Amino acid sequence: MVIVIVIVLGLITGSFLNVVIFRLHSGKSFLFRRRAFSSGRNSDRASASELARSQCLTCGRQLQALDLIPLLSFLFLRGKCRYCGKKISWQYPIVELATAITFGLLVQNFQFSIFNFQFWFQAIIASFLIVIAVYDYKHYLILDKVILPASLTALIYQIWQGNLAWALLGALIIAGFFSLQYFASKGRWIGFGDVKLGIFLGLIFAQNALGFLVFAYVVGAVVALLLMAFGGKGLKSRVPFGTILGFSAIIFLLWGDRLVQWYLRLLGI
Ligand SMILES: [Zn+2]
Repeated sequence: MVIVIVIVLGLITGSFLNVVIFRLHSGKSFLFRRRAFSSGRNSDRASASELARSQCLTCGRQLQALDLIPLLSFLFLRGKCRYCGKKISWQYPIVELATAITFGLLVQNFQFSIFNFQFWFQAIIASFLIVIAVYDYKHYLILDKVILPASLTALIYQIWQGNLAWALLGALIIAGFFSLQYFASKGRWIGFGDVKLGIFLGLIFAQNALGFLVFAYVVGAVVALLLMAFGGKGLKSRVPFGTILGFSAIIFLLWGDRLVQWYLRLLGI
């Protein structure tokens, strides 16, 4: 029963994350307008209600509640807008499904209950990772306004867990490693956004930071091989590093401890 509630919660969160990803991109002029014309509270409330509403990106029709049921609407409408018949991006059901599966596995793996703060923190961190991965995939960009609240959440989590020193060391290790590559290659191998993402990832994985780095590079190598084998068939020819990091981080969030134990056994430690 709990798992059903968590999966539904994941689907709803996923559909909210889709809106966030869209708003973040169209947000530039949106933010500017808000700054230029308004003062404070009212505009914040207006933007929140705009965030909750949804319309078809092609024909602009306001979507009804029935069109906005996560996953199910996409299936019933066979991926097309009810009004103009234009295809709806696969991003929507994929993000909804990925969020639901992640939330479900968090509860399953760690036997969290939804009354457990640990669950909420992990779910929020996973949500940030999904937004970062998808946004970087679409726009080749990692935004400060995502990384900043994400890092803050991870920092608060680690302070609460009494794990601050390790978290800071983790951030230093991953961000330090990325910035070495950034400066050595003058930004050709790695973007500065990835360096900032490294801070967030280090804060999350703390004492497992090195283990995560190894894992992320293995995932990156596998993705590169897959692209070589199947590239150009619907997939992008180049998957951004932030997407690989975000995806690896979600897997590592779920199974990282077990992976690290496995490495250590492999090394005979
Ligand atoms: Zn439409």
